[in-house]
Amino acid sequence: MSKLKSITKKAKTIAKSGIEPYQEGKHNFENENPDVEALALKRSEICSGCEYFKTEPIKKFHVTDDRIPVLSKMYCEDCGCISSFKLRQSIEVCKKWRE
Ligand code: SF4
Repeated sequence: MSKLKSITKKAKTIAKSGIEPYQEGKHNFENENPDVEALALKRSEICSGCEYFKTEPIKKFHVTDDRIPVLSKMYCEDCGCISSFKLRQSIEVCKKWRE
């Protein structure tokens, strides 16, 4: 996906869901919590097999994830969200995580 499409997806998701999911995910990424990490690890196994799990095309948004390395530099192409943050919040839960 192009950089422009990545930005457009992010803007649409923030317009629809607000900034709180991003803020919660970023907070949990920066403040390690064992329960959040365990849940994010389980979710990462699902994302890893998903067609929308892609390398973030915009380098400025790359996150290095030392606790769950598979999430490093990745984002969800469906919503535009940075994977390291998205998987560590529970305001906007992907339906695939529940399947
Ligand atoms: S959050 Fe959902 S749609 Fe996005 S990559 Fe993960 S499983 Fe796929």
